[in-house]
Amino acid sequence: MNPEIESSKPGSLKEIQAAEAKLLIQTYERNPLLLVSGQGVHLRDEQGNEYLDLLSGIGVCALGYQHPVLTSALQQQSQGLLHTSNLFYHRGTSELALRLTEITGLDRVFFCNTGTEAWEAALKLARAHARRLRSQGRKIGTGILAMEDSFHGRTIGSLATTHKLKYREPFEPVMPGVSFVPFNNVAALRAAFSSEICAIAIEVIQGEGGIHPVSRQFLAAARELCDSTGALLLLDEIQSGMGRTGRWCAYQHYGVQPDVTTLAKPLAGGVPIGAMLCTEEASLAFTPGMHGTTFGGNPLACSLAIAVIDEIKRSRLLDHVASLGEYFLGRLRGLQTSFSCIRAVRGMGLMIGVELESESLARQILQGMMERRIILNRTHETVLRFLPPYILSRQDVDHVLDALSELLATHGNSSTEKTAVMDGEKIHG
Ligand SMILES: *Cc1c(COP(=O)(O)O)cnc(C)c1O
Repeated sequence: MNPEIESSKPGSLKEIQAAEAKLLIQTYERNPLLLVSGQGVHLRDEQGNEYLDLLSGIGVCALGYQHPVLTSALQQQSQGLLHTSNLFYHRGTSELALRLTEITGLDRVFFCNTGTEAWEAALKLARAHARRLRSQGRKIGTGILAMEDSFHGRTIGSLATTHKLKYREPFEPVMPGVSFVPFNNVAALRAAFSSEICAIAIEVIQGEGGIHPVSRQFLAAARELCDSTGALLLLDEIQSGMGRTGRWCAYQHYGVQPDVTTLAKPLAGGVPIGAMLCTEEASLAFTPGMHGTTFGGNPLACSLAIAVIDEIKRSRLLDHVASLGEYFLGRLRGLQTSFSCIRAVRGMGLMIGVELESESLARQILQGMMERRIILNRTHETVLRFLPPYILSRQDVDHVLDALSELLATHGNSSTEKTAVMDGEKIHG
């Protein structure tokens, strides 16, 4: 069919790039790196080069690569079933649900396959919950308040609550009824809230938006407003949850309990899974047949997620993430005092952002890190994002800091005159 691809067997990076350029719908800008294996916190390319991975597949591979508990769970599950459909029982769903309800403080779980799907389920639950309240004579509408600079995924519903115009505009009209509120602006939240609203949607730490934690006052205000009408507080923990910040969920740092939370990325250590959790009361809005999925909660994903949770507990990884995160943030703040091109250092645990003064500097630093075989990425144009595996060590952090300070010394002060405003977008200060 395609002689050029037939004759150049995929193998080398160049061949694969050429094949993908012809065969894949072009939705991604990939790094020119062909990955073949990994061990611990290191990835290996096809030439045998090793990279220190500070991104873990966008916060997914929390236990790193070839972790023995994951390998063993995979082996064990290969003797059992990969899939049953939700028409039958298997042992994994309730075992995982028990663990998830214990660690989140919520009552019930709906399993799905991705973060976006978990968020979509949360939005549907909010609408159905409000409908149930209306049927009981309560006054509550269908509107949803989402945050500026939010990211909740790419389905038409999730996208409607995702702020970035570039993601939303080509697909409009998206789901109606969503208004955006400036993140952490309590007065604006209070002004936008009314009995028309059925849910307030918040990422406890905005990830794609540049690693911005919600403020205590804002989260408390959101909780109070929801309580005043019966609206649901939806907290998206897809990036910040499952131990990333040193607690199982980032909201546990605030002492605020949501009605609904969503988990995904690191939940099964690298296999697709999503989970929407909610209170007993909110769960009553879904009755059999109202929502579902073919793959959600399949035996493979459940057994891996159980292995991830049990290993985080067994190896006390929450404590490790918390203390290593403190150390990492402390060292980055130290760096900030020597380099004025660092505008801000933000984060919790091992979810860390370093905001630089310009997009071009951020690109240069990433390029330099890649040359030093250190993988991280950039979010919100100017923010270096660190989402390393939880098993990262202090020596790894020191190595990263050495590389970063060298690169900032080379590129940092030379680029101070460059512009900090890109694409007319708001830059956080
Ligand atoms: C990644 C992410 C999503 C979407 O998850 P997918 O698995 O890519 O569908 C939603 N919300 C947040 C906060 C995320 O970081």
